Amino acid sequence: MKQNRLGKTNCIVSRIGCGGIPIQRATLEDAKKIIDAMEEHHMNFIDTARGYTTSESLFGKALVGRREKFFLATKSMARTYEEMKKDIQQSLTLLNTSYIDLYQCHNLKIGEDYQGALEALKEAKREGKIHHIGITSHSLEMLMSILDSNEFETIQFPYNLLERQAEELFKKAYERNMGIIAMKPFAGGAIQDYSLGLKFILNHPYISVVIPGMENERQVHENASVSEGKYTLDELERIEEIRLKLNQEFCRRCGYCKPCSVGIDIPTCFILEGYDERYQLKEWAKSRYDQMKVPASSCIECHLCETRCPYQLKIVNKLKEVVQRFEK
Ligand code: SF4
Ligand code: SF4
Repeated sequence: MKQNRLGKTNCIVSRIGCGGIPIQRATLEDAKKIIDAMEEHHMNFIDTARGYTTSESLFGKALVGRREKFFLATKSMARTYEEMKKDIQQSLTLLNTSYIDLYQCHNLKIGEDYQGALEALKEAKREGKIHHIGITSHSLEMLMSILDSNEFETIQFPYNLLERQAEELFKKAYERNMGIIAMKPFAGGAIQDYSLGLKFILNHPYISVVIPGMENERQVHENASVSEGKYTLDELERIEEIRLKLNQEFCRRCGYCKPCSVGIDIPTCFILEGYDERYQLKEWAKSRYDQMKVPASSCIECHLCETRCPYQLKIVNKLKEVVQRFEK
């Protein structure tokens, strides 16, 4: 597999890595087979998170005896010094390692205070517990705002056939020598043609590594077999077909619909719905949904959000489906 330099970390990583959400459904045997297959294809990048229930511990157990061959990235939603310090230690324990290659501030939103968490990350870096510091977000504005701060070595943001709003962000990050990690290559499972979805990203000049979620060895082999290069006419037609089909039903998480009149986090509702519907991560999605401050059932149907959505999504109706899924 082709390898890339991960920006200013100067680490060499495989062009395709393993996204650690779906492995929550896997057994330890499955996890070991995933790691076997990754070794076979020289796929060394693993991205997991404190919030992905069993993901860190499964990777930790499956990597026994071969940790050095892999680049481990994880992340935490902690925002204070104490919480982040605790989470780093917990990640080290569960991943069964003395160091983590990349630790990321997870899902930062604009306006959030994360200075305490950043302090803990810098301290862990000085102590050699983590080697590099990154950031992940679904907010373009958030990542644009940190580009010149020099605090983060990598960014992680969704990018796929349907969600291309990060083009400018990636260009700017690339010019600043940051590592660029593309998440959600299949738009949370909405893009069913995985091979084409991946090829689309592999053809992107600035992306360092793309991290499709993988839960079995077959998916590792399939993903590893996708090659970049020119599209065939048939592929170009299929790209257009996919865009047309999903254009008016798929939420791009752009956040233009905000603020909701009653404070519902609309894009997060749809992200969690996708995890439940397409990845069958019911319990995890439901527990995340239950932590949301304002449930979808609070919608007063003012339709203001719909006037702001550039994709004309029928948000009110879609939220009713979310209520059926998580609140009934
Ligand atoms: S229609 Fe519902 S979701 Fe949209 S802004 Fe109004 S209350 Fe919020
Ligand atoms: S509902 Fe529309 S405006 Fe809101 S995040 Fe999704 S695509 Fe963007």
